[in-house]
Amino acid sequence: LLDPAPIATTTTTTCGYCGIGCTLDVHVRDGQVAAITPVHGAPVNRGHACVKGRFAHAFAGSRERLTAPLIRRGDALEEASWDEALGLVAARLTAIRDRHGGQAVAMISSARATNEENYLAQKFLRTVVGSNSIDNCSRLCHAPSAAGLTASFGLAGGTNPLDDLDHADCILLAGANPTEAHPVVGARITQRVLAGARLVVVDPRRTTLAALADVHLRGRPGSNVAVFHGLARLLLDGGYTDEEFLTRRATGLAELTELLRDYPPERVAELAAVPASDLATAARLYGQAEHPAIVYGLGITEHAHGTDGVRTLANLAILRGAVGTPGCCGVLTLRGQNNVQGASDMGALPDLLPGYQPLADPAARQRVARVWGQPVPERPGLRIPQMFDAAIAGRLRALYVIGEDIAQTDPDSGHVRAALDACEFVVCHDLFLSQTAAHADVVLPAVSFLEKDGTFVNFDRRFQRVRPALAPPGQATSDFDILRRLAHAMGADLGCPTPAAAMAECAAVAPLFAGISHDRLDREGPLHWPCRGPRDTGQAVLYLDRFATADGRAALAARPYLPPGEQPDTAFPYVLVTGRRLEHYNSGSMTRRTPNTTLLAEETLDLSAADAAALGIDDGTPVAVTSRRATVTLPARITDELAPGEVFTAFHFPDPATNSLTSAHTDTATGCPEYKVTAVALRPT
Ligand code: SF4
Repeated sequence: LLDPAPIATTTTTTCGYCGIGCTLDVHVRDGQVAAITPVHGAPVNRGHACVKGRFAHAFAGSRERLTAPLIRRGDALEEASWDEALGLVAARLTAIRDRHGGQAVAMISSARATNEENYLAQKFLRTVVGSNSIDNCSRLCHAPSAAGLTASFGLAGGTNPLDDLDHADCILLAGANPTEAHPVVGARITQRVLAGARLVVVDPRRTTLAALADVHLRGRPGSNVAVFHGLARLLLDGGYTDEEFLTRRATGLAELTELLRDYPPERVAELAAVPASDLATAARLYGQAEHPAIVYGLGITEHAHGTDGVRTLANLAILRGAVGTPGCCGVLTLRGQNNVQGASDMGALPDLLPGYQPLADPAARQRVARVWGQPVPERPGLRIPQMFDAAIAGRLRALYVIGEDIAQTDPDSGHVRAALDACEFVVCHDLFLSQTAAHADVVLPAVSFLEKDGTFVNFDRRFQRVRPALAPPGQATSDFDILRRLAHAMGADLGCPTPAAAMAECAAVAPLFAGISHDRLDREGPLHWPCRGPRDTGQAVLYLDRFATADGRAALAARPYLPPGEQPDTAFPYVLVTGRRLEHYNSGSMTRRTPNTTLLAEETLDLSAADAAALGIDDGTPVAVTSRRATVTLPARITDELAPGEVFTAFHFPDPATNSLTSAHTDTATGCPEYKVTAVALRPT
């Protein structure tokens, strides 16, 4: 903007990085982004933005962008025309479907894609291929939130809007580091604490907000359920519960009370390695607050018992009557990717249709089939980890991946690469030649959020418009366009000629979104779901009348604490926790192609000074990190953020391949990987 040359266009759109969904103005000059500025009156970000949304846009003009379809010929991927590439994909998918059945084909849809693209993706797989094996990366992050929140409250989303944090007088922040991963929310929490709110942080790492907290419950990785049981027991014993709410609006108190007999503070202190006195202080702060809020992230979900973590955290809000009541702040879930909420909302899931309608429900299938004009396949599909196992077992022949770099970001990446190589046919859409694209038979050039038209749903269930600010490079085109053209090449018609038409069709099949349309979003601004009709203005706060469970009551969960899937031992004595860095985003495919690399150019292994001294490691020393699956080498970064015995890194860079270390252990309820607990050995090299 400092350049005196005039800006040609300014487009208001939604950030394509994290799930907070900041509204941004994209200023374009000479066909390139000149600057991005946050919109001052925007409801989510109120004029704020972070180093990713505001500055990490140079990737859009990168010379490495894919600009033409690629087809594998021998060992090389070579440019081809769209007709040739789509003809090949259509012929191979048709042959595999006809020979082995639709179940032999699976699709991983994208949390980076719009709602309309996700809607079309699941419609394509269900109607053209005849398979329900569609999943999205919420499987790897917040599937336990969807399952846990649905079981506790009735719907698969956070209960309250971000603005409710403005009147929270105590914030319980669990398993999240929003200062780095969701910076606009991190700033809102900091502002609230500086204004006097109390802060309790549950996290193995001493994050920026943990350092600011009244109490930091620094439990050992994998101990969340024990910590939440300890807090629940102290809420009950201290008389901090809302008896009237529990009697009228909740179930399961007797079973939970019985279970909590086994979780006195002294035992929890031992299980989780947190001082009992800190547990008592945390329970008192959350228990005495008039407007207590819970905010949580992947540190709760990405565990072998992640759904139990969500449910036992939700217990605390139910015990306090701090959810579904006027003035409450409820439970906010910090979703990772820009549209990971929307990808699930749209039914890119193997057992749920758009709007979380169970595939197993004949009435739901009929409702969808009536609009589609053809039946919905009944057999539930494969989850992402099951897809890899099925490919290796020879039961899955073709894998279609939209905008995800599974070879880099999914756990136990050696297993993922073996699965990709075992498939007869792999297709992917991407902006760049990713680690996954390198295993593909056909790579189709897609477009970024700066070139897309549609909507995203953010972490507090807000539908927001996404508008194209740039023309796509070369022959790249949207996932929406690719799917429609591919269906046509397979002799089918997906309908939905425009993203607005796809949203209208989604509103017709999914009662939760019946009132959502592009017209309304353009006229009225963002709308929260549920939004059940054209005059419904959407529900920002859920459950004020009744919970959406079968009996209308919130369900307390009596689930025992179980240890993580992977445990340290003498051979692998340290626990590796993986997470995110401020400067980069997920696989890093976008942020690594921007000047953000000048802020953080490589990954590090973070460890405590005590462990570094014991191992003879200095800052920068290359450290070989070995898990039960692989070894990678990372430079050491000595920090007080980690407790002795625990180390941390992220997976924003393809090299070293952090996820070759992580395990195949998954949440027993949802299949979400246990990214947060990996037993490792360390050796300075
Ligand atoms: Fe984008 Fe998230 Fe940063 Fe907002 S906080 S600008 S949505 S990355």
